Amino acid sequence: MKAVLDHVGVAVRDLAEALAFYRDALGLEVAASENVASQGLTAHFLQTGATRLELLEPTSPDSVIARYIEKRGPGLHHITLRVANLDQVLSHLMARGVRLVGEAGRTGAEGARIAFIHPSSAHGVLVELKESAPAPVNLGVKRFSVGSLRVSVLYDGLFRLDGGAMFGIVPRTMWEKKTPADDRYRIQLAMRPALIEADWGRLLIDCGAGDKWADKEREIYAFDRTRNLDHALSEIGLAAEDIPLVLPTHLHFDHFGGATVIASGQLRPRFPNARYPIRRAEWEDATHPHERNRASYRRDDFEPLLAAGVVDFFDDDHSVKPGVRIERTGGHTGQHQVIFIESEGQTAIFTADLIPTTAHIQDPWIMGYDLFPMETLAVKRRLIRNAIDREHIIIFEHDPLIAAGYIRERDGRRFVEALRYTS
Ligand SMILES: [Zn+2]
Repeated sequence: MKAVLDHVGVAVRDLAEALAFYRDALGLEVAASENVASQGLTAHFLQTGATRLELLEPTSPDSVIARYIEKRGPGLHHITLRVANLDQVLSHLMARGVRLVGEAGRTGAEGARIAFIHPSSAHGVLVELKESAPAPVNLGVKRFSVGSLRVSVLYDGLFRLDGGAMFGIVPRTMWEKKTPADDRYRIQLAMRPALIEADWGRLLIDCGAGDKWADKEREIYAFDRTRNLDHALSEIGLAAEDIPLVLPTHLHFDHFGGATVIASGQLRPRFPNARYPIRRAEWEDATHPHERNRASYRRDDFEPLLAAGVVDFFDDDHSVKPGVRIERTGGHTGQHQVIFIESEGQTAIFTADLIPTTAHIQDPWIMGYDLFPMETLAVKRRLIRNAIDREHIIIFEHDPLIAAGYIRERDGRRFVEALRYTS
Protein backbone atom coordinates (compact mmCIF):
# COMPACT_ATOMS: atom_id res chain seq x y z
CA MET A 1 0.00 0.00 0.00
CA LYS A 2 1.27 3.39 -0.98
CA ALA A 3 -0.44 6.65 0.01
CA VAL A 4 0.38 10.08 -1.37
CA LEU A 5 -0.55 13.37 0.30
CA ASP A 6 -3.22 14.82 -1.99
CA HIS A 7 -4.34 17.86 -0.03
CA VAL A 8 -4.91 19.41 3.38
CA GLY A 9 -8.44 20.59 4.17
CA VAL A 10 -8.94 23.84 6.09
CA ALA A 11 -12.37 24.86 7.39
CA VAL A 12 -13.00 28.58 6.81
CA ARG A 13 -15.85 30.73 8.11
CA ASP A 14 -15.67 33.30 5.34
CA LEU A 15 -14.00 32.66 1.99
CA ALA A 16 -13.19 36.31 1.22
CA GLU A 17 -11.45 36.66 4.59
CA ALA A 18 -9.52 33.45 4.05
CA LEU A 19 -8.44 34.49 0.55
CA ALA A 20 -7.17 37.80 1.91
CA PHE A 21 -4.55 35.69 3.63
CA TYR A 22 -4.00 32.60 1.45
CA ARG A 23 -4.23 34.37 -1.91
CA ASP A 24 -3.41 38.02 -1.35
CA ALA A 25 -0.80 37.70 1.41
CA LEU A 26 0.69 34.28 0.57
CA GLY A 27 0.23 34.54 -3.19
CA LEU A 28 -1.46 31.15 -3.72
CA GLU A 29 -3.75 30.77 -6.71
CA VAL A 30 -7.24 29.28 -6.56
CA ALA A 31 -6.96 26.49 -9.13
CA ALA A 32 -10.53 25.22 -8.91
CA SER A 33 -13.73 25.57 -6.90
CA GLU A 34 -16.39 22.93 -6.61
CA ASN A 35 -19.78 23.00 -4.94
CA VAL A 36 -20.32 19.71 -3.11
CA ALA A 37 -24.05 19.99 -2.46
CA SER A 38 -24.29 16.65 -0.65
CA GLN A 39 -21.86 17.93 2.00
CA GLY A 40 -23.25 21.46 2.17
CA LEU A 41 -19.95 23.06 1.26
CA THR A 42 -17.89 24.63 -1.48
CA ALA A 43 -14.31 23.40 -1.84
CA HIS A 44 -11.69 25.83 -3.14
CA PHE A 45 -8.39 24.25 -4.15
CA LEU A 46 -5.15 26.25 -3.92
CA GLN A 47 -2.17 24.75 -5.72
CA THR A 48 0.89 24.29 -3.52
CA GLY A 49 3.35 22.32 -5.62
CA ALA A 50 2.49 18.64 -5.92
CA THR A 51 -0.23 18.88 -3.25
CA ARG A 52 -3.03 21.37 -2.60
CA LEU A 53 -4.81 23.24 0.14
CA GLU A 54 -8.57 22.86 0.17
CA LEU A 55 -10.51 25.70 1.74
CA LEU A 56 -13.84 24.33 2.95
CA GLU A 57 -16.58 26.93 3.00
CA PRO A 58 -19.93 25.89 4.48
CA THR A 59 -22.94 26.66 2.30
CA SER A 60 -25.58 25.59 4.82
CA PRO A 61 -25.72 26.20 8.59
CA ASP A 62 -26.28 22.55 9.46
CA SER A 63 -23.49 21.09 7.31
CA VAL A 64 -20.69 19.12 8.97
CA ILE A 65 -18.23 21.94 8.28
CA ALA A 66 -20.54 24.63 9.74
CA ARG A 67 -20.98 22.58 12.91
CA TYR A 68 -17.23 21.96 13.10
CA ILE A 69 -16.50 25.70 12.89
CA GLU A 70 -19.19 26.48 15.46
CA LYS A 71 -17.64 24.02 17.90
CA ARG A 72 -13.92 24.63 17.38
CA GLY A 73 -13.60 27.68 15.18
CA PRO A 74 -12.00 27.65 11.71
CA GLY A 75 -8.80 25.67 11.16
CA LEU A 76 -7.19 22.45 10.06
CA HIS A 77 -9.99 19.99 9.29
CA HIS A 78 -8.53 16.91 7.56
CA ILE A 79 -5.68 15.56 5.50
CA THR A 80 -6.30 13.55 2.36
CA LEU A 81 -4.19 10.62 1.25
CA ARG A 82 -4.53 9.33 -2.28
CA VAL A 83 -4.42 5.55 -2.81
CA ALA A 84 -4.57 3.44 -5.97
CA ASN A 85 -7.22 0.98 -4.79
CA LEU A 86 -9.56 2.23 -2.05
CA ASP A 87 -11.33 -1.10 -1.47
CA GLN A 88 -8.05 -2.91 -0.97
CA VAL A 89 -6.83 -0.28 1.50
CA LEU A 90 -10.12 -0.30 3.43
CA SER A 91 -10.15 -4.07 3.90
CA HIS A 92 -6.51 -3.86 5.00
CA LEU A 93 -7.41 -1.16 7.57
CA MET A 94 -10.60 -2.83 8.75
CA ALA A 95 -8.68 -6.06 9.42
CA ARG A 96 -6.55 -3.97 11.79
CA GLY A 97 -9.52 -2.53 13.63
CA VAL A 98 -9.26 0.98 12.19
CA ARG A 99 -12.49 2.92 12.72
CA LEU A 100 -14.15 4.70 9.81
CA VAL A 101 -16.55 7.65 9.78
CA GLY A 102 -19.68 7.42 7.65
CA GLU A 103 -20.16 5.35 4.54
CA ALA A 104 -16.99 4.16 2.81
CA GLY A 105 -16.60 4.50 -0.95
CA ARG A 106 -18.94 7.46 -1.44
CA THR A 107 -18.27 10.06 -4.13
CA GLY A 108 -16.39 13.21 -3.17
CA ALA A 109 -15.00 16.22 -5.06
CA GLU A 110 -13.77 15.62 -8.63
CA GLY A 111 -15.65 12.32 -8.87
CA ALA A 112 -13.18 10.59 -6.56
CA ARG A 113 -14.23 7.69 -4.33
CA ILE A 114 -13.55 8.61 -0.70
CA ALA A 115 -13.69 7.31 2.87
CA PHE A 116 -12.88 8.92 6.23
CA ILE A 117 -10.87 7.44 9.08
CA HIS A 118 -12.00 8.48 12.54
CA PRO A 119 -9.49 10.73 14.37
CA SER A 120 -9.49 8.27 17.27
CA SER A 121 -7.78 5.76 14.97
CA ALA A 122 -5.39 8.29 13.43
CA HIS A 123 -3.86 10.04 16.44
CA GLY A 124 -6.26 12.94 16.48
CA VAL A 125 -6.32 13.65 12.74
CA LEU A 126 -9.34 13.20 10.49
CA VAL A 127 -7.89 11.30 7.49
CA GLU A 128 -9.68 11.19 4.19
CA LEU A 129 -8.72 8.41 1.78
CA LYS A 130 -9.25 9.05 -1.88
CA GLU A 131 -9.13 7.00 -5.04
CA SER A 132 -9.00 9.33 -8.01
CA ALA A 133 -11.54 8.90 -10.76
CA PRO A 134 -9.93 6.86 -13.58
CA ALA A 135 -8.47 8.72 -16.56
CA PRO A 136 -11.10 8.97 -19.29
CA VAL A 137 -10.68 6.39 -22.04
CA ASN A 138 -12.66 5.59 -25.14
CA LEU A 139 -11.87 2.17 -26.53
CA GLY A 140 -14.23 0.31 -28.82
CA VAL A 141 -13.70 -0.30 -32.53
CA LYS A 142 -13.84 2.89 -34.62
CA ARG A 143 -14.64 2.36 -38.30
CA PHE A 144 -14.41 4.67 -41.28
CA SER A 145 -13.79 4.55 -45.01
CA VAL A 146 -10.90 5.87 -47.05
CA GLY A 147 -12.18 5.72 -50.61
CA SER A 148 -12.92 2.06 -51.26
CA LEU A 149 -10.86 0.88 -48.27
CA ARG A 150 -12.52 0.16 -44.95
CA VAL A 151 -10.49 1.01 -41.85
CA SER A 152 -11.27 -0.33 -38.38
CA VAL A 153 -9.16 1.14 -35.59
CA LEU A 154 -9.09 -1.69 -33.04
CA TYR A 155 -7.72 -1.81 -29.49
CA ASP A 156 -5.51 -4.00 -27.37
CA GLY A 157 -6.23 -2.41 -24.02
CA LEU A 158 -4.39 0.25 -22.05
CA PHE A 159 -1.00 0.80 -20.48
CA ARG A 160 1.03 3.55 -18.89
CA LEU A 161 4.44 5.04 -19.59
CA ASP A 162 6.44 7.73 -17.84
CA GLY A 163 4.99 11.11 -18.80
CA GLY A 164 8.39 12.80 -19.03
CA ALA A 165 9.67 10.11 -21.40
CA MET A 166 6.55 10.53 -23.56
CA PHE A 167 7.18 14.25 -24.07
CA GLY A 168 10.97 14.60 -24.24
CA ILE A 169 12.05 18.22 -23.75
CA VAL A 170 8.52 19.52 -23.10
CA PRO A 171 8.27 20.66 -19.45
CA ARG A 172 5.88 18.77 -17.21
CA THR A 173 3.97 21.98 -16.45
CA MET A 174 2.97 22.01 -20.12
CA TRP A 175 2.24 18.35 -20.90
CA GLU A 176 0.43 17.74 -17.63
CA LYS A 177 -2.31 20.12 -18.71
CA LYS A 178 -3.05 17.84 -21.65
CA THR A 179 -2.53 14.50 -20.00
CA PRO A 180 -2.30 14.20 -16.20
CA ALA A 181 0.20 11.80 -14.63
CA ASP A 182 -0.56 9.27 -11.92
CA ASP A 183 1.31 8.95 -8.61
CA ARG A 184 4.12 7.15 -10.40
CA TYR A 185 4.39 9.94 -12.99
CA ARG A 186 2.91 7.71 -15.70
CA ILE A 187 0.28 8.77 -18.24
CA GLN A 188 -2.60 6.76 -19.63
CA LEU A 189 -2.05 5.36 -23.11
CA ALA A 190 -3.97 3.00 -25.37
CA MET A 191 -2.82 0.49 -27.97
CA ARG A 192 -4.81 0.70 -31.18
CA PRO A 193 -3.86 -1.60 -34.05
CA ALA A 194 -5.75 -0.95 -37.30
CA LEU A 195 -7.39 -3.33 -39.72
CA ILE A 196 -7.75 -2.51 -43.41
CA GLU A 197 -10.28 -4.39 -45.51
CA ALA A 198 -10.53 -4.21 -49.28
CA ASP A 199 -11.42 -6.36 -52.26
CA TRP A 200 -7.89 -7.81 -52.00
CA GLY A 201 -8.51 -9.00 -48.43
CA ARG A 202 -7.45 -7.91 -44.95
CA LEU A 203 -4.32 -6.42 -43.44
CA LEU A 204 -3.61 -5.70 -39.79
CA ILE A 205 -1.21 -2.89 -38.85
CA ASP A 206 0.48 -3.59 -35.49
CA CYS A 207 -1.06 -5.96 -32.97
CA GLY A 208 -0.70 -4.53 -29.46
CA ALA A 209 1.28 -5.85 -26.51
CA GLY A 210 -0.20 -9.33 -26.31
CA ASP A 211 -0.37 -11.40 -23.17
CA LYS A 212 3.12 -12.79 -22.51
CA TRP A 213 3.71 -10.67 -19.43
CA ALA A 214 4.96 -11.46 -15.95
CA ASP A 215 3.09 -9.90 -13.03
CA LYS A 216 5.93 -7.48 -12.31
CA GLU A 217 5.92 -6.16 -15.89
CA ARG A 218 2.12 -5.84 -15.87
CA GLU A 219 2.48 -3.69 -12.81
CA ILE A 220 5.32 -1.52 -14.21
CA TYR A 221 3.37 -0.77 -17.38
CA ALA A 222 -0.09 -0.90 -15.74
CA PHE A 223 -1.36 -3.11 -18.54
CA ASP A 224 -5.13 -3.27 -18.59
CA ARG A 225 -6.11 -5.72 -21.29
CA THR A 226 -9.54 -6.59 -19.94
CA ARG A 227 -10.64 -5.36 -23.37
CA ASN A 228 -8.04 -6.65 -25.78
CA LEU A 229 -7.45 -7.35 -29.46
CA ASP A 230 -9.45 -10.59 -29.38
CA HIS A 231 -12.47 -8.63 -28.14
CA ALA A 232 -11.90 -5.93 -30.75
CA LEU A 233 -11.76 -8.48 -33.56
CA SER A 234 -14.87 -10.29 -32.34
CA GLU A 235 -16.67 -6.93 -32.15
CA ILE A 236 -16.44 -6.94 -35.96
CA GLY A 237 -17.10 -10.64 -36.34
CA LEU A 238 -13.48 -11.73 -36.83
CA ALA A 239 -10.92 -13.91 -35.06
CA ALA A 240 -7.14 -14.27 -35.23
CA GLU A 241 -7.54 -16.97 -37.92
CA ASP A 242 -9.11 -14.41 -40.27
CA ILE A 243 -5.99 -12.23 -40.47
CA PRO A 244 -3.74 -13.12 -43.41
CA LEU A 245 -1.23 -10.27 -43.08
CA VAL A 246 0.24 -8.47 -40.04
CA LEU A 247 2.39 -5.44 -40.81
CA PRO A 248 4.35 -3.95 -37.89
CA THR A 249 5.39 -0.28 -37.84
CA HIS A 250 8.39 -1.37 -35.75
CA LEU A 251 9.09 -4.26 -33.38
CA HIS A 252 8.64 -2.55 -29.98
CA PHE A 253 6.56 -4.60 -27.55
CA ASP A 254 3.60 -2.19 -27.44
CA HIS A 255 3.22 -2.58 -31.21
CA PHE A 256 4.23 -6.14 -31.90
CA GLY A 257 4.06 -8.04 -28.59
CA GLY A 258 0.74 -9.45 -29.78
CA ALA A 259 2.42 -11.20 -32.73
CA THR A 260 3.13 -14.34 -30.72
CA VAL A 261 1.42 -16.33 -27.96
CA ILE A 262 2.41 -19.10 -25.60
CA ALA A 263 0.31 -22.22 -26.21
CA SER A 264 1.00 -25.35 -24.17
CA GLY A 265 4.37 -23.99 -23.16
CA GLN A 266 5.39 -23.19 -26.75
CA LEU A 267 5.80 -19.81 -28.40
CA ARG A 268 3.94 -19.64 -31.69
CA PRO A 269 2.48 -17.05 -34.08
CA ARG A 270 -0.67 -15.45 -32.65
CA PHE A 271 -2.31 -15.29 -36.11
CA PRO A 272 -2.06 -18.87 -37.42
CA ASN A 273 -2.77 -18.01 -41.06
CA ALA A 274 -0.77 -14.79 -41.32
CA ARG A 275 2.42 -13.72 -43.07
CA TYR A 276 4.40 -11.00 -41.33
CA PRO A 277 6.21 -8.53 -43.64
CA ILE A 278 9.11 -7.02 -41.66
CA ARG A 279 11.76 -4.52 -42.72
CA ARG A 280 15.08 -6.34 -42.66
CA ALA A 281 17.01 -3.47 -41.00
CA GLU A 282 14.41 -3.21 -38.20
CA TRP A 283 14.81 -6.93 -37.60
CA GLU A 284 18.59 -6.41 -37.37
CA ASP A 285 18.12 -3.62 -34.81
CA ALA A 286 15.60 -5.63 -32.81
CA THR A 287 17.83 -8.69 -32.67
CA HIS A 288 20.93 -6.61 -31.79
CA PRO A 289 19.59 -4.26 -29.10
CA HIS A 290 21.75 -1.84 -27.13
CA GLU A 291 21.39 -0.24 -23.69
CA ARG A 292 19.03 2.43 -24.99
CA ASN A 293 16.41 0.20 -26.65
CA ARG A 294 16.82 -3.17 -24.95
CA ALA A 295 13.68 -2.79 -22.80
CA SER A 296 11.53 -2.22 -25.90
CA TYR A 297 12.64 -5.18 -28.04
CA ARG A 298 11.63 -8.59 -26.69
CA ARG A 299 12.90 -11.60 -28.66
CA ASP A 300 9.86 -13.70 -27.84
CA ASP A 301 7.69 -11.24 -29.77
CA PHE A 302 9.37 -11.84 -33.14
CA GLU A 303 11.96 -14.67 -33.16
CA PRO A 304 9.32 -17.44 -33.04
CA LEU A 305 7.92 -16.03 -36.30
CA LEU A 306 11.17 -16.65 -38.10
CA ALA A 307 11.31 -20.18 -36.72
CA ALA A 308 7.75 -20.73 -37.98
CA GLY A 309 8.76 -19.51 -41.45
CA VAL A 310 6.10 -16.78 -41.64
CA VAL A 311 8.32 -13.66 -41.96
CA ASP A 312 8.73 -11.92 -45.32
CA PHE A 313 11.67 -9.54 -45.17
CA PHE A 314 11.73 -6.41 -47.30
CA ASP A 315 14.28 -3.60 -47.66
CA ASP A 316 12.61 -0.53 -49.11
CA ASP A 317 9.46 1.58 -48.98
CA HIS A 318 6.76 0.05 -51.15
CA SER A 319 3.04 -0.61 -51.51
CA VAL A 320 2.27 -3.78 -49.62
CA LYS A 321 -1.25 -3.91 -51.10
CA PRO A 322 -3.13 -1.56 -53.44
CA GLY A 323 -3.70 1.62 -51.40
CA VAL A 324 -1.43 0.60 -48.50
CA ARG A 325 2.00 2.19 -48.68
CA ILE A 326 4.89 1.88 -46.24
CA GLU A 327 7.13 4.90 -45.66
CA ARG A 328 10.20 4.77 -43.42
CA THR A 329 10.37 7.75 -41.05
CA GLY A 330 13.22 6.71 -38.76
CA GLY A 331 13.31 8.95 -35.71
CA HIS A 332 11.69 6.82 -33.04
CA THR A 333 13.76 3.82 -34.12
CA GLY A 334 16.18 3.74 -37.03
CA GLN A 335 13.60 2.00 -39.20
CA HIS A 336 10.30 3.18 -37.73
CA GLN A 337 7.72 3.38 -40.51
CA VAL A 338 4.27 4.88 -41.01
CA ILE A 339 1.53 3.45 -43.20
CA PHE A 340 -0.31 5.53 -45.79
CA ILE A 341 -3.84 4.34 -46.54
CA GLU A 342 -4.86 5.91 -49.86
CA SER A 343 -7.87 5.47 -52.09
CA GLU A 344 -9.90 7.65 -54.47
CA GLY A 345 -8.06 10.83 -53.48
CA GLN A 346 -8.48 10.27 -49.73
CA THR A 347 -5.66 9.57 -47.32
CA ALA A 348 -5.35 8.27 -43.77
CA ILE A 349 -1.99 7.82 -42.06
CA PHE A 350 -1.21 5.29 -39.39
CA THR A 351 1.48 7.39 -37.71
CA ALA A 352 2.44 4.95 -34.90
CA ASP A 353 5.04 6.60 -32.64
CA LEU A 354 5.58 9.60 -34.90
CA ILE A 355 2.37 11.18 -33.51
CA PRO A 356 1.42 8.74 -30.74
CA THR A 357 -1.32 10.89 -29.16
CA THR A 358 -3.26 14.06 -29.93
CA ALA A 359 -0.94 15.84 -27.46
CA HIS A 360 1.95 15.23 -29.88
CA ILE A 361 0.65 17.29 -32.83
CA GLN A 362 3.09 20.13 -32.13
CA ASP A 363 6.28 19.51 -34.10
CA PRO A 364 8.71 19.64 -31.12
CA TRP A 365 6.54 17.50 -28.81
CA ILE A 366 8.70 14.46 -29.43
CA MET A 367 9.15 11.44 -27.21
CA GLY A 368 12.28 11.13 -25.09
CA TYR A 369 12.37 7.50 -26.21
CA ASP A 370 13.19 8.52 -29.80
CA LEU A 371 16.69 7.49 -30.85
CA PHE A 372 16.91 10.17 -33.56
CA PRO A 373 14.71 13.10 -32.48
CA MET A 374 15.95 15.48 -35.21
CA GLU A 375 14.83 12.95 -37.77
CA THR A 376 11.44 12.79 -36.06
CA LEU A 377 11.22 16.59 -36.17
CA ALA A 378 12.02 16.82 -39.88
CA VAL A 379 9.48 14.14 -40.79
CA LYS A 380 6.79 15.55 -38.49
CA ARG A 381 7.15 19.04 -39.94
CA ARG A 382 6.62 17.77 -43.46
CA LEU A 383 3.96 15.16 -42.71
CA ILE A 384 1.79 17.30 -40.43
CA ARG A 385 2.00 20.32 -42.77
CA ASN A 386 0.79 18.10 -45.59
CA ALA A 387 -1.89 16.50 -43.42
CA ILE A 388 -3.30 19.91 -42.46
CA ASP A 389 -3.22 21.28 -46.00
CA ARG A 390 -4.67 18.16 -47.62
CA GLU A 391 -7.01 17.04 -44.82
CA HIS A 392 -5.38 13.67 -44.23
CA ILE A 393 -6.89 11.56 -41.47
CA ILE A 394 -4.39 10.84 -38.69
CA ILE A 395 -4.67 7.63 -36.66
CA PHE A 396 -3.38 8.15 -33.10
CA GLU A 397 -2.25 4.69 -32.03
CA HIS A 398 -1.62 5.49 -28.36
CA ASP A 399 -4.33 8.06 -27.64
CA PRO A 400 -6.75 6.77 -24.98
CA LEU A 401 -9.60 9.03 -26.16
CA ILE A 402 -9.30 9.88 -29.85
CA ALA A 403 -8.54 7.09 -32.32
CA ALA A 404 -8.48 9.21 -35.45
CA GLY A 405 -9.03 12.77 -36.55
CA TYR A 406 -7.95 15.75 -38.61
CA ILE A 407 -5.23 18.13 -37.46
CA ARG A 408 -6.57 21.66 -37.93
CA GLU A 409 -4.84 25.00 -37.63
CA ARG A 410 -6.55 28.26 -36.69
CA ASP A 411 -4.70 31.50 -35.89
CA GLY A 412 -1.47 29.53 -35.72
CA ARG A 413 -2.89 27.11 -33.13
CA ARG A 414 -3.16 23.42 -33.84
CA PHE A 415 -5.94 21.19 -32.61
CA VAL A 416 -7.50 17.85 -33.47
CA GLU A 417 -11.02 17.45 -34.80
CA ALA A 418 -12.08 13.90 -33.98
CA LEU A 419 -13.29 11.91 -36.94
CA ARG A 420 -16.97 11.02 -37.28
CA TYR A 421 -16.80 7.27 -37.33
CA THR A 422 -19.30 5.14 -39.23
CA SER A 423 -19.60 2.90 -36.17
ZN1 LIG B 1 4.64 2.86 -29.05
